[in-house]
Amino acid sequence: MHENDRILTPKRISLDSEEGSLRPAQLKEFIGQVDLKRQFEIYIKAASGRNESLDHVLLYGPPGLGKTTLGIIISNELGVGLKATSAPAIERPGDMAAILTSLNFRDVLFIDEIHRLKPILEEILYPALEDYKIDIVVGQGPGAKSIKINLKPFTLVGATTRAGLLSSPLRSRFGIVQRLDFYTTEDIYNIVKRSAKILRVSVDDQGAMIIAQRSRGTPRVANRILRRLRDIAEVKGDGTINSEMSQKGLRMLGLDDLGLDNMDKRLVETICTKYEGGPVGIETLAVSLGEDSNTIEDIYEPYLIQIGFLKRTQKGRVATKRAYKHLGFKYKNSIEGDLF
Ligand code: ADP
Repeated sequence: MHENDRILTPKRISLDSEEGSLRPAQLKEFIGQVDLKRQFEIYIKAASGRNESLDHVLLYGPPGLGKTTLGIIISNELGVGLKATSAPAIERPGDMAAILTSLNFRDVLFIDEIHRLKPILEEILYPALEDYKIDIVVGQGPGAKSIKINLKPFTLVGATTRAGLLSSPLRSRFGIVQRLDFYTTEDIYNIVKRSAKILRVSVDDQGAMIIAQRSRGTPRVANRILRRLRDIAEVKGDGTINSEMSQKGLRMLGLDDLGLDNMDKRLVETICTKYEGGPVGIETLAVSLGEDSNTIEDIYEPYLIQIGFLKRTQKGRVATKRAYKHLGFKYKNSIEGDLF
């Protein structure tokens, strides 16, 4: 299967594609995450009332939960401009300086995958975040000169799936740090209904509920499943996603009752069958699966841990009793010595 065909592929920042059209633009359209919305409402109102830039924001959590969307919403709610980029796309100090100096008063700079920012670029960012100043060196050798540039107050919104990999000086520069959690089935159901309306897809309540239950608590996954089922329903049915059509479509997409795909199942199966349930180190597991360890950690593991199929221990990954049961395997775990 091509990487782009997978339901779980990480996103690219898209503002004008079909996926972009599904992004809520205002806080009131952002479904779920009630506490987080309430807090942002207050912070945004307060900063706007004082005509100041909003404090820098760090958003972290698994992919597809709305970090980029929130970055866009924050700029919309503040009524300011937005520059969106991702850390690996910024290569040299000059690129960083160009981005920072192009920002207008109170603008939002969104940097995705901020944990991947090069240390030399982080150094430029520190004074920019603290004092709205940058210090860049122009030229080389004895003729090199350090130039100080004043910036306009702005807000950095950093997003990461790995808050733990952020250097502590960088992390300490964020005044607002928010974690995004997996959504409830009810929230995802509402997201499916909202997206179906925008895409003019006909989905009945049962169809929407079945999609919601298989979407791993992740809006991006729900939207992707919805678009695939739309295709299937148009070609194989009358265009309506009802209970029968969604069950059939999900089977065609290779998703099981919990929304696990073949890779999720292979991951857990490998731990159970090749490593007696674990513990097994992430690198060993990655080699066994022929998959990148970062992809396993960012995309597959969080949900498997959330549903209690996998545990991260100091010695490595361990498959739980629940995972064995789901796969229909007999449980015998070397760590707990439990047998059933
Ligand atoms: P992240 O940046 O965390 O990887 P995104 O912000 O790109 O995730 O969100 C993925 C998609 O899910 C968006 O295109 C948007 O349509 C949808 N989405 C995310 N959060 C919500 C939400 N709370 N309500 C409605 N749709 C959402």
